[in-house]
Amino acid sequence: MDDEILRDLAARARYFESLSSLGAPRIAPVGGEIAVAAPRAAGPSSAPMAAAPTAVVPRPAPAYPNLEAIREWIGDCQRCQLAGTRKNIVFGQGNPNAQLMFVGEAPGADEDEQGLAFVGRAGQLLTDIIEKGMKLRREDVFIANILKCRPPGNRNPEPDEILQCHPFLEKQIETIHPKVLVGLGKFSCQWLLKTMEPITKLRGRMGTFNGIQVMPTYHPAYLLRNPSAKKDVWEDMKVVLTLLQG
Ligand code: SF4
Repeated sequence: MDDEILRDLAARARYFESLSSLGAPRIAPVGGEIAVAAPRAAGPSSAPMAAAPTAVVPRPAPAYPNLEAIREWIGDCQRCQLAGTRKNIVFGQGNPNAQLMFVGEAPGADEDEQGLAFVGRAGQLLTDIIEKGMKLRREDVFIANILKCRPPGNRNPEPDEILQCHPFLEKQIETIHPKVLVGLGKFSCQWLLKTMEPITKLRGRMGTFNGIQVMPTYHPAYLLRNPSAKKDVWEDMKVVLTLLQG
């Protein structure tokens, strides 16, 4: 096994370890009772993870009174390799007191260029979901990603990158403290719900993140490729609207 594979396995081990350290996932079908699920195995690729060479040392979690303080904390972040290829850090934007917060995966090319979350084609679709579908104003919700910098070529986030970046999002969620979180796509939903289940199984099953209700759904970029899945997302958004009104 070469060094690169070993490094990748070690990073994945640290990521899965960090997920489990956040607590057992709480997932329930829509409309059902929320049950504490048993910790899940990470699948066949998890076998070598028992030999994780290093433990995750939690980053100190200072109190941040507002989003500006979190942005200052991020600074000109160099904590992961994405710092070397990004144009802009994409902090996320919207109402700092939003009742509804969307969490995506990572900035794309348009977002990297403008320094704003969800401004490309997928972002336009998300705007349509919010404004035409849910009849809300985009500026009244908050939209952010797990990663604040664009992975080159829009590749998937690496576990180490999520490990380095997720404390920023965690503090954003803590500060905004929305009533409902909507996870957009696999990486966001898995992180919010602390599970490695595939998005096809997670979608539409309510969970919680630090006591906040979470609706996992498909990423708008997936909807652009699979328009027939829009009806599933609409079903999820109807549940979210009910929760917001409750
Ligand atoms: S992705 Fe996050 S951790 Fe990595 S450089 Fe950007 S802000 Fe820092």
